[in-house]
Amino acid sequence: MIVLQMEKRVEPMRVLVTGGTGLVGRAIEHVVREEGGAREGEEWIFVSSKDANLMDAKETRGLFEKRRPSHVIHLAAMVGGLFRNMRENLDFWRNNIHINDNILQTAHEMGVAKVVSCLSTCIFPDKTTYPIDETMIHNGPPHNSNFGYSYAKRMIDVQNRAYFQQYGRRFTAVIPTNVFGPHDNFNVADGHVLPGLIHKAYVAHKEGTPLQVWGSGTPRRQFIYSLDLARLFIWVLREYDEIDPIILSVGEEDEVSIKEAAECVVDALGFKGQVVFDTTKADGQFKKTASNAKLRRYLPDFKFTPFPQAVKETCDWFVANYKTARK
Ligand code: NAP
Ligand code: GDP
Repeated sequence: MIVLQMEKRVEPMRVLVTGGTGLVGRAIEHVVREEGGAREGEEWIFVSSKDANLMDAKETRGLFEKRRPSHVIHLAAMVGGLFRNMRENLDFWRNNIHINDNILQTAHEMGVAKVVSCLSTCIFPDKTTYPIDETMIHNGPPHNSNFGYSYAKRMIDVQNRAYFQQYGRRFTAVIPTNVFGPHDNFNVADGHVLPGLIHKAYVAHKEGTPLQVWGSGTPRRQFIYSLDLARLFIWVLREYDEIDPIILSVGEEDEVSIKEAAECVVDALGFKGQVVFDTTKADGQFKKTASNAKLRRYLPDFKFTPFPQAVKETCDWFVANYKTARK
């Protein structure tokens, strides 16, 4: 008997990255283009709101019809730090619900093989035990400061499970902690803590004024460098086969206080002035310590960039790109 071994033809991926011009999108683009993250024959397409307003269903459909992706990394979102979240809960809810529903439903209608969306550890319940893991996302209300963003993001997980249950679609999500790196949003009023501190310390250094750290400095955060996150995102797209989400985070032992994070920025920029804590400003959720045990089961040897090195690289990028950086 002759057994003919048919070689399975695997079509190269055509990956559409929504939010491709943002902090995480630019990091994925860097890894794909500069670190050999792409494989032969693959096509990677990075899009922004200029290509299509994803809050609009017709524009979303038009983008998919034009680009015909086989895979989607879905990053596009209304994103902001604690203080923007506190001011604009309704917009965070509505804009993100529309964007996410348009992307997932269009990917379903167009037969996309896999979508990897992005949740966040700031959607976790406020009152909880620690460390928080992937099974606990829906176990109680999120912190009141960012309930609009949090509930909208949680619904991605609900939709992923429902698309799988009804249609067998392989849509999943990652849960990164607080991300920072080159191309972040350094706007002090709207952005996250690290880009905010870097921008404020840069200006304070030039003007000889104190660095104002908002809040008490005691809350604790796990930070992830955008380039580490990008490498993990590409692994998830290629290898991670679950519908349930996966936390992408440094270990619990690498959680730092906001005060320690500010000290790192001060060191990286060589800031010699006074550092003051403005306790009239909100602290937000005290901590959201996440377990990376699931990630470690899959990738026991993955090396995260040490936090001081990643902060230094981000500060250097900001100084070198001050004129054009988002701020
Ligand atoms: P970002 O730097 O603010 O970038 C947002 C991206 O989304 C930009 O490319 C933007 O396009 C695009 N976008 C926004 N609204 C859009 C719309 N209506 N239509 C089409 N595109 C739109 O955000 P990021 O920090 O890279 O975040 C990426 C993902 O990671 C988000 O899903 C976010 O929720 C998640 N995440 C972020 C963090 C963090 O600390 N930054 C932590 C956890 C999870 P334009 O450039 O044209 O505006
Ligand atoms: P979160 O991690 O989702 O809460 O969001 P952020 O990245 O905005 O971090 C908020 C924490 O950093 C709170 O404890 C703030 O009080 C503190 N913080 C200190 N200085 C700043 C700043 O300049 N900008 C922001 N966004 N937060 C700051």
